[in-house]
Amino acid sequence: MLPFAIGWLARLYILPRHPELSPYVNRSFIPVFLPFLWTQLLGHVALVAIALVLRARGVRTASWLVHAEIQFWMICTSISLYTVGPLTTPFIILIVALPVIGSLLFEARPLRLGLITMAVGFALGVGLPVAGVVPYGPFVGTAPYVEGRINLAWVLSFGGPSVFATVFMLLIHTSLLQRLRDRQQELEHLSSTDVLTGLANRSVFYARLREEMARARRHKHGLCVLFIDADNFKAINDDFGHPTGDAVLVEVGRKVRDTLRQGDIAARWGGEEFAILLSHTAIAEARLVADRLLVLSRTVRAGEGAMGRKLTVSIGLAQLRPGETAEELISRADAALYGAKHEGRDRVTVAQEPAELRAAP
Ligand code: GH3
Ligand code: MG
Ligand code: MG
Repeated sequence: MLPFAIGWLARLYILPRHPELSPYVNRSFIPVFLPFLWTQLLGHVALVAIALVLRARGVRTASWLVHAEIQFWMICTSISLYTVGPLTTPFIILIVALPVIGSLLFEARPLRLGLITMAVGFALGVGLPVAGVVPYGPFVGTAPYVEGRINLAWVLSFGGPSVFATVFMLLIHTSLLQRLRDRQQELEHLSSTDVLTGLANRSVFYARLREEMARARRHKHGLCVLFIDADNFKAINDDFGHPTGDAVLVEVGRKVRDTLRQGDIAARWGGEEFAILLSHTAIAEARLVADRLLVLSRTVRAGEGAMGRKLTVSIGLAQLRPGETAEELISRADAALYGAKHEGRDRVTVAQEPAELRAAP
């Protein structure tokens, strides 16, 4: 907004001395317009200064400041818009552009409130002149109507181009916004997904685990975590090659996903290791899921025909204990997985309760 205000101010100081530069403006309106422009300029300078001081002190931009700046901007723009005639092309374009530019810069709430202010300003800027309460665009000479009749000169020079420009800008902005949203979705997907298997990644798993733990505690549901690790996977890579190893991991990922209910989360923990979160599930039911996964994983084969090899996995299972943190739960599931490996692989091992761990020698 600052460049606009500075531009207008410069123009208002030059115009009285050079009337030939703009024969259409109403110079008698300048003494009213000038104090408004100075208020606008100083108001913005003050708000920007406050923001800079806060930032220098390491304070995150306060939400009241964002609201104040947007509201001030919208009110000033509505008044500027009224003075030159709200139906002229540049301002129509501005109105269409505001939601787009605003949505890139600001959060939805202050922007929405700002746009409401702008819409009210626009309605008043058009409605009051039409009702005859105030003159239309007091700073410019050409009005859309003269003595109650449509002014053809205005329609040809301002109104027609306004409609055309508005429709054009709306189309461009809609397509730009759509592209931006698509790109954002794509990025979110990429940053939350494991590229090879399409399962969630570790950070998404942690985030969902924390949410589900809070929910499980609030509603007193059971919650279980499974850790799955492919057995002797190094040998599969060594004997059949890395691409076959990758294909096996993709297949395991698919089986895992197909086994789970909606609301459960499957993630690739890393390498040939997967983590599963079973919400609303107590240990007995989770054990059934783990056994099913154990059987299903044996149907995955590396390599073709007689030379092929059956995959097996080892699974560690832990149920959330009262007062346990996400890290503690995961570490118990991991320890159970280690136990399953130790006992000979291709099996499910249930994690020990913390009390049992303490009692163990
Ligand atoms: P264990 O039964 O004890 O788990 O034996 P293991 O051979 O599965 O375990 P180890 O940790 O020794 O080896 C894991 C192997 O998994 C080694 C690594 O190359 C392979 N691996 C990890 N990530 C990938 C991957 O994305 N693709 C492929 N093809 N192999 C992977
Ligand atoms: Mg392994
Ligand atoms: Mg491993």
